[in-house]
Amino acid sequence: MTGPVAPEIIDDEDINPEFVDAIVRAGADRIRTCIQCGTCSSVCPSGRRTAFRTRELIRKALLGLKEEVLTSPDLWLCATCLTCLERCPRQIKVTDAIIIMRNMAVEEGYMLPQHRKASRKLIKTGHAVPIDDANREMRRELGLQEIPPTTHASDKALQQVQEIMRRTGFIDLIEKAESE
Ligand code: SF4
Ligand code: SF4
Repeated sequence: MTGPVAPEIIDDEDINPEFVDAIVRAGADRIRTCIQCGTCSSVCPSGRRTAFRTRELIRKALLGLKEEVLTSPDLWLCATCLTCLERCPRQIKVTDAIIIMRNMAVEEGYMLPQHRKASRKLIKTGHAVPIDDANREMRRELGLQEIPPTTHASDKALQQVQEIMRRTGFIDLIEKAESE
């Protein structure tokens, strides 16, 4: 027989009051008006299939649990469908808040391995999902040229795309995330 679940204890040192300020400054300006109604969780398609709860994420952000939020895999389960943003009775830009927190996570070196892998492929080939043998075969069957006229077919285009990624700081960001 299992006993009651112990409540999660939050220590003072876990709370970063500036976390929510940074989220507000970045654009989710109404986040503090959240009434924890749970509408966002109830309409979330991702929450139907996973343990992700939008309301809980917003609550943790409001409590200032920066480290817990930024390191949580849940942060990446949102499909950015915008449904919660449309339904929130407080007109909180929930999806924007999640994207802001994702940006913060990456800035601090937290990325899912899958995103890291896709980013590396993007830097190397200009595509997050580069063409493979199966795709070449499908293109042949459809009567398309085997290699699409993208960075796959043009070294010059690839160099230009890589230059954009360099100038916008994307490459630095990924390299930084990998070194942490
Ligand atoms: Fe908070 Fe809006 Fe979600 Fe309700 S729907 S819990 S007010 S963010
Ligand atoms: Fe859920 Fe994200 Fe869609 Fe909001 S935007 S309902 S959190 S999947």
